[in-house]
Amino acid sequence: MSELTEFRQQVRTWLEANCPMSLRTPTPDGELIWSGSEVNFTFDDQRQWFNSMRDKHWFCPSWPTQYGGGALTAQQNSVLESEMRRLKCRPPQINLGIWMLGPVLLEHGTELQKQQFLTPMTRGEVRWCQGFSEPNAGSDLASIRTSAIDQGDHYLVNGSKIWTSYGDKSDWMYALVRTDAKAPKHQGISLLLLDMHSQGVQAKPIDLISGKSSFCEVFFDNVVVPKENLIGELNGGWKLAKELLQHERSAMSKFGEFQLPTHFDLMSLMSDYMPAPHSASEAALLNKAVAANMEEQAYNLTVQRLGAEMQAGQSCFGLMSIMKLVHTEQEKIKFELLLDAMGYRGLGWEDDSFSEQEQAITRAWLNSFSQTIAGGSSEVQLNVIAKRVLQLPENKGVS
Ligand SMILES: Cc1cc2nc3c(=O)[nH]c(=O)nc-3n(C[C@H](O)[C@H](O)[C@H](O)COP(=O)(O)OP(=O)(O)OC[C@H]3O[C@@H](n4cnc5c(N)ncnc54)[C@H](O)[C@@H]3O)c2cc1C
Repeated sequence: MSELTEFRQQVRTWLEANCPMSLRTPTPDGELIWSGSEVNFTFDDQRQWFNSMRDKHWFCPSWPTQYGGGALTAQQNSVLESEMRRLKCRPPQINLGIWMLGPVLLEHGTELQKQQFLTPMTRGEVRWCQGFSEPNAGSDLASIRTSAIDQGDHYLVNGSKIWTSYGDKSDWMYALVRTDAKAPKHQGISLLLLDMHSQGVQAKPIDLISGKSSFCEVFFDNVVVPKENLIGELNGGWKLAKELLQHERSAMSKFGEFQLPTHFDLMSLMSDYMPAPHSASEAALLNKAVAANMEEQAYNLTVQRLGAEMQAGQSCFGLMSIMKLVHTEQEKIKFELLLDAMGYRGLGWEDDSFSEQEQAITRAWLNSFSQTIAGGSSEVQLNVIAKRVLQLPENKGVS
């Protein structure tokens, strides 16, 4: 038996023994476990699964052991992922720090920063939020204005962020700040880590029409940030931001795979609501669903191919924009088709006459729009793909 086959066998046995049956289903809205100083479990199995995976060092399976990781090779990591997929295990925890900041810290952090920030991440003890967007600096991210002024041993941060997901529930923020107002805009930005409990930080939830919102505006009023919290070089934050966003896009391209709330089986749901097409328009709808299903399968195969290429040492970095674009657009189409098939059953919101699943589908449909914006909108991904992947020339305008 090859070493990898033996490893697969061990992983399978361990997961079967440790992942409770109740957590081998798609995660409903509201049952995601966010790591942090306050972790909320709705039932005991979640706590047990969280603790088992944490103690196995599989929150960050491929990170080095000295920072609490599991030190799995890329191949072993992909075996773990595929075995979790096979058993339909829910993710034991969610943390933006692990998805996005961690890989950047591993590459660019000082030893002290790695010790201070990575180990608590791998234990699920700190919740992170992303402080990138500002009013007038979303797609045009390099226009950020929140400033960090050098005060000798610390920076003084002033300004505001917007669309900060869960800013009010997070312990720490990784933020882009302007550290040189006179330099060209891409060259005056730094990446800074900010304790959200510092004096002068205020996170205000933004009300949305749905009545639920994860978004906050975050205000900084003379916030003192130690200089040790600067990641990488002063004014070198733009390069790190681009890396971090690629990690975000990579994580977003896997959402369906790990059974986050959008994970629904299109074909089986279509047949629940439309067992046999009774009209030309229903037949056309079914045809579209079949095409969408095939595209989803092609996408999943491409993810596997990219995984194999990465294991073979090829860099797939710029391709994450393609994966994020394709996946989020496919999800949106999938839910539009599903809603068409559901007819009035797709109108459920908080009314008891709609099943939990129907309400979850309606919410997932609405959420699918936001995923084409979060992490950089689809239009912006197309620009990135044109420039960085296809290396097309800049558009100088039509004369
Ligand atoms: C669910 C969700 C979660 C988010 N979480 C966070 C978070 O935690 N932290 C954070 O910092 N931000 C977060 N954001 C903000 C997100 O990063 C921005 O919304 C996104 O970058 C777009 O910026 P904007 O909203 O300012 O839109 P704008 O930049 O104003 O864009 C408006 C429209 O113009 C288009 N457009 C803009 N520039 C171009 C161009 N050059 N070419 C073609 N089209 C263009 C865009 O595609 C879009 O359709 C989140 C957003 C969402 C939806």
